Amino acid sequence: MSQERKVRVRFAPSPTGPLHIGGVRTALYNYLFARRHGGTMILRIEDTDSQRFVPGAEEYILESLKWCGIEIDEGVGVGGPHAPYRQSERRDIYLKYAKQLVESGWAYYAFDTAEELDALRKEYEARGETFAYNYSIREKQPTSLSLSKEEVAARIARGDQWVIRFKMPENEIVEMDDLIRGHVEVNTSTLDDKVLYKSADALPTYHLANIVDDRLMEVSHVIRGEEWLPSLPLHYLLYRAFGWTDLQPRFAHLPLLLKPTGGGKLSKRDGDKMGFPVFPLFWKSPATGETARGYREDGYFPEAFINMLALLGWNPGTEQELFTMQELIDNFSLERVSKSGARFQPDKAKWFNAQYMHRKTDAELAEVYQPILREHGIEVSDEVAGKAAGIMKERAQLTTDLWDLTSYFFIAPTQYEEKQTRKYWKGDNPAILRELRGVLEGIDDFSKENTERIVHAWIEEKGYGMGQVMNTLRLALVGAGKGPGMYDVTEFIGREETLRRIDYLLDNLKPAE
Ligand code: GLU
Repeated sequence: MSQERKVRVRFAPSPTGPLHIGGVRTALYNYLFARRHGGTMILRIEDTDSQRFVPGAEEYILESLKWCGIEIDEGVGVGGPHAPYRQSERRDIYLKYAKQLVESGWAYYAFDTAEELDALRKEYEARGETFAYNYSIREKQPTSLSLSKEEVAARIARGDQWVIRFKMPENEIVEMDDLIRGHVEVNTSTLDDKVLYKSADALPTYHLANIVDDRLMEVSHVIRGEEWLPSLPLHYLLYRAFGWTDLQPRFAHLPLLLKPTGGGKLSKRDGDKMGFPVFPLFWKSPATGETARGYREDGYFPEAFINMLALLGWNPGTEQELFTMQELIDNFSLERVSKSGARFQPDKAKWFNAQYMHRKTDAELAEVYQPILREHGIEVSDEVAGKAAGIMKERAQLTTDLWDLTSYFFIAPTQYEEKQTRKYWKGDNPAILRELRGVLEGIDDFSKENTERIVHAWIEEKGYGMGQVMNTLRLALVGAGKGPGMYDVTEFIGREETLRRIDYLLDNLKPAE
């Protein structure tokens, strides 16, 4: 059946907060699968739970997907033949389907109030049992299974609140097939009668809306997180109840992203504790003002972030680690997604970013570095920005490392690192630096190679210590014991600036001793 179907997958997040990187990975795998099979990638926003709705979360989802390069073919923000794609705008669709299940005997009305349910739950707990609304009580409670037709109609007519619950069969084995987990069986007696529709807000719950929309939107494959596996028997039965089994999508439940330490699901708290983001973009909660860091703002390239995420739960079957989006598309298959959870490794994330950093051209680096330079009040050409970043890229992992690594190219030191000062700003070194100033002043071609040749010849001729001279020069030009080769710096800042910095040091810092 579904093998032949046109591939249509959906990413169906609920706007309940910033999108966790596990959610980004779900979107990514859906996207890779769609592209691999020439299919369609749908974005549906599942916002029927008004209690958990968070303003700004939908915009955050859209922006995150865009930053990651995950393109949506159909759905929120794009439109398409099944619009609208936001469930709150589809509310009129669902009641009909809920009623259809009541009519066919697969669902029923229940009139229990929240207080009654609470009291029941407490009663069970007092007996040391767990409460489940299921076959054992549904005929004893105020439901359309226990009340007369007239009574049900009267209660609805007078405006009593009701829900429609799924009538989970008793003691039946549901057999399911998952593209990642294989064959799964569950006894229905372990499941409860989930609410499908609530009159209180005239909205369906996740389960009903999800199944109806997957059907109406002709979804062929449901690829989603493992946390939805317990819902799979209900979803199978809903397809059966609606008589849609011939068009039922195939399911693939993705393994969890685990904490760096291995045990349990990766959480924001892990990130906060160990200093890494668990969200793609910076987030500020409009309600509480609480913030969360993001990969984008922390200085990651989207390609590196995506590459890293793709390999958390999927492996290509080779040693290859670096993949462009196109290579991911060409290689992706659900068969190579693992069953077991994937442990998140913050250092590996940085490693991926460094690999991309090292491969960037100066022009590409200029693009990411210019905004950072501007933040520091530095206005330079793209060429200059790219060159500075290019010289130091091998030592950078994140774009946010670049400023620290290159700031001396743009700002002359006026403060000098204490350790370096103590070590080199003493003895003959100030006098030697003054002499070196004279040598540099006489060099016309200030290219790296030429300056190096002349200065080295001079050092040899004088019999000075190479380390002493170069480190003293470094103190003048960088102000610290860091930076690239000295001739990269002299070429970059040029002769005038080199001399100016030497003069500043000579005039302003008293030598030790
Ligand atoms: N709205 C659900 C979520 O937020 C979607 C689950 C599914 O893909 O079926 O994860």
